[in-house]
This record gives sequence, C-alpha cells and structure tokens, in this order.
Amino acid sequence: MADFSLTGKVALVTGATSGIGRRQALALAQAGAAVVLLGRREAQLQEAVAEIEAVKARAAALSADLSDRDQLPKLAERAMVPFGSIDILINAAGMNLRQPAVEITLESWDMTLNLNLAVPFFLARELIPAMEVNGWGRIINIASLQSSRAFPNGLAYGASKGGISQLTRAMAEAWSRHGITCNAIAPGFFPTELTAPVYKDPDQLDKLAAQTAIGRNGELSDLDGLTVFLASPASDYITGQIIHLDGGFTAK
Ligand code: NAD
Repeated sequence: MADFSLTGKVALVTGATSGIGRRQALALAQAGAAVVLLGRREAQLQEAVAEIEAVKARAAALSADLSDRDQLPKLAERAMVPFGSIDILINAAGMNLRQPAVEITLESWDMTLNLNLAVPFFLARELIPAMEVNGWGRIINIASLQSSRAFPNGLAYGASKGGISQLTRAMAEAWSRHGITCNAIAPGFFPTELTAPVYKDPDQLDKLAAQTAIGRNGELSDLDGLTVFLASPASDYITGQIIHLDGGFTAK
C-alpha cells in the first residue's frame, strides 16, 4: 500500500498567504503535516493559519519578505522553530509583472529572477543539511506553462520559469542520493492574484480553457492530489521531474 501520509512531517510553504501556496499548505495539513506558512501580509497570514487550524491541523505563521537574499539563512532558522524541523519545502512565492520588452528595467528583471529563481535555490540550500541528517526531504518548485512556452509579455517571467525547470533537475541531481527529491509542478491557468489580469477577460479565459484537453481551466482543489503525492513517501522514486497540472494544455 502506497504511503501518502504526511503525519509527523513538517512543511514550509512560501507564498502561503494566497493562491496556489495557500491551497497547497492546506492540502499538506489535511494529509497530516504540520505547516509553517511564510508570507509578507500579516492579516492574510493569520487567516491562512486559522484556515488550517480549523481542520484540526497544526500551522504556524512566518512573517517574512523573501526578496532580501541575505536574510535567507536567518529565515530558514526561524522556519525550524515552530515544529523543530523542515522536511518539505514548497517554493510557491512568485511574481509576474507582465511587462512588454521595452518596459523591462534592470530592477524589474532582477526582482523577478530573484524571487522566482534564486530564492527557491538559496532557501532550499539552507534547509538541505537538516534533511540530509534525516535521510529524507522534499523540495517542490512551481514551474509554469511558460517553462516551455512563450506567452506575450512573459520575458522575465518566462526566463525565470524556464530556469526553475532546469534548477529542479539540477537540485534533484545534487541531493536525491541523500533521500531528498526535487520536483516541480507546472500549473496551467488557476484563479489567483497573479492571474487576475487574465481572469478579467472572459474571452481569453474561454480560449485558454478550450486549449486544454479537459475543457476547463484549473481550480485550486486540482492542486491537492499532486501536492500531497510529491510531498509524501509514495513518490520516493520520482525526482527531477516537471509535472504538468494543466488539464492537458501541453498535451495538445
Ligand atoms: P499569488 O500572487 O496568489 O501567489 C504568490 C505569492 O507570493 C503571494 O502570496 C505573494 O504575496 C507572494 N510573494 C510575492 N513576493 C514575495 C516576497 N518578496 N516575499 C514573500 N512572498 C512574496 O499567485 P499564485 O498564482 O498562487 O502564484 C504561486 C506560484 O504559482 C508562482 O510561482 C506562480 O508563478 C506560479 N504559477 C501560477 C499559475 C496560475 O495560474 N495561478 C500558473 C503557473 C504558475
């Protein structure tokens, strides 16, 4: 019988105040994990913690801004405090400025590449030594359709998401022998703050839904199964993979 239980495991989820990260934190908690939720917005963070506690699971808030890379070692230490360790890291914090090529500045480029690509690596690296001691760990990154496809105004975002796919493989190569797997979920279109500009346009949404094999865009609950699977011992032999969660968008 495959082991999908996360009882006794502790997860750290970034970007947990909204959207995909918040939903994934809840899914992990419902599968038995204690969850540390990292986010910048205090009120939303407390709401997300309360949502998890309401299903009789354990959660703790870690109020932090990921944009300062120098703070990541401290942040990793703070993340260990509530439940004593971190076994599972989900790098869900991300941004998409949707700038046309001419509007991209050095600052906006660096901000996007830093949050979407550098932070997942440098944060994970801080958590790896303790996972190595346990001989078990999970890193789950969030890729995108733009990991392999070009979308309008997606230059910096697409570069970061193409990068996260290869980073996922390279992290798997570096750490899987120590029992630490690294995989990425590549979502199709899901209703979140990040995709709000797309969701404002019903025609565009219909077109995107029609591009899937299933015939609809994603719902946050669609994330639950794959998230729990990749975080659990059931996926012990899966590493370095980018798994599309897109209703067949990339199959067509
Ligand atoms: P979202 O905006 O709801 O979530 C992103 C989160 O990251 C937010 O809570 C935001 O506050 C947080 N964040 C941004 N900058 C931060 C910082 N400096 N420090 C800490 N937190 C910060 O949008 P989402 O769609 O849930 O995005 C989550 C991930 O999923 C992102 O990596 C995104 O690229 C990816 N993704 C989303 C979709 C989709 O359809 N929604 C599709 C493909 C990939």
